Amino acid sequence: MTPSLNADLHCHSVVSDGTLTPEALAERAKANGVELWALTDHDEVGGLQRAAAAARANGLAYLTGVEISVTFIEQTVHVVGLGFDPASQALQSGLRQTRGGRGQRALDMSDGLAKIGIQGAYEGALKFAGNHDLISRTHFARFLVESGVCRDTNEVFRKYLTEGKPGFIEHRWSSLKDAVRWITEAGGVAVIAHPARYKFTATEEFALFSEFKNHGGQAVEVVTGSHTAAEYVSYAAIATEFGLAASRGSDFHSPLESHTELGTLPPLPEHLTPVWDLLAGRIQH
Ligand code: AMP
Ligand code: MN
Ligand code: MN
Ligand code: MN
Repeated sequence: MTPSLNADLHCHSVVSDGTLTPEALAERAKANGVELWALTDHDEVGGLQRAAAAARANGLAYLTGVEISVTFIEQTVHVVGLGFDPASQALQSGLRQTRGGRGQRALDMSDGLAKIGIQGAYEGALKFAGNHDLISRTHFARFLVESGVCRDTNEVFRKYLTEGKPGFIEHRWSSLKDAVRWITEAGGVAVIAHPARYKFTATEEFALFSEFKNHGGQAVEVVTGSHTAAEYVSYAAIATEFGLAASRGSDFHSPLESHTELGTLPPLPEHLTPVWDLLAGRIQH
């Protein structure tokens, strides 16, 4: 297949922190001209049966997907998995373990917000969580917008939910090595998600890609809703330097909150190997 395929291999449903169902996402992807689609909920494969059925109903080529939260050199890194077998026991227990700390983290976030006078944030956030096992900062952000504390979720993250702010709690997620292993042992391809969003030094970033590659990681998101055009160019160069395939995905969460709509990103640069070339046998039609 060609690098110009309209693939969207990164988005979120109500099963994690998106606002649309897997069915609504599949319909929206189809309507927007997506030719290959994956649902990549955070730390959770619970929406994939519905996604696969909806993709089939819409005549949309489909890959299984997930976005795993990892801690690498004291920062959170996201690793997307594509084309794995969701029935894999190792993957399922790894994801269960990764999700496991979210409940206590949310209670601690709520305590932090209560200290500055914002009451009831845990219960408020939980109302927005379609999956109570997957309460995330996004659900807190929606609650603070609903309560009138901020105008939009970006403002909430900036003022309350990022490092050093009252609702931010340090959290240790899974290791890079484990996340890559769960994906690859389940027959999938591991992808570093939105690399430009991390705050690594050049040396740390080199370590991230080197270790990722050593553990069996095979791809990097180059064209994503969280990159600028200049960042597409930087990470195309990283893909070439590390011999990684390239992925493309909007990271769409919600019609009202997301600035990048499903299926509307520019194509991958022509000279890169598209991640879907590694996954040809895993695409469901
Ligand atoms: P969590 O996994 O609970 O730490 O939540 C991470 C999610 O928060 C990401 O997947 C994004 O959907 C969202 N997020 C992170 N940073 C921001 C930001 N600055 N503005 C809006 N949403 C953000
Ligand atoms: Mn998210
Ligand atoms: Mn992410
Ligand atoms: Mn995402």
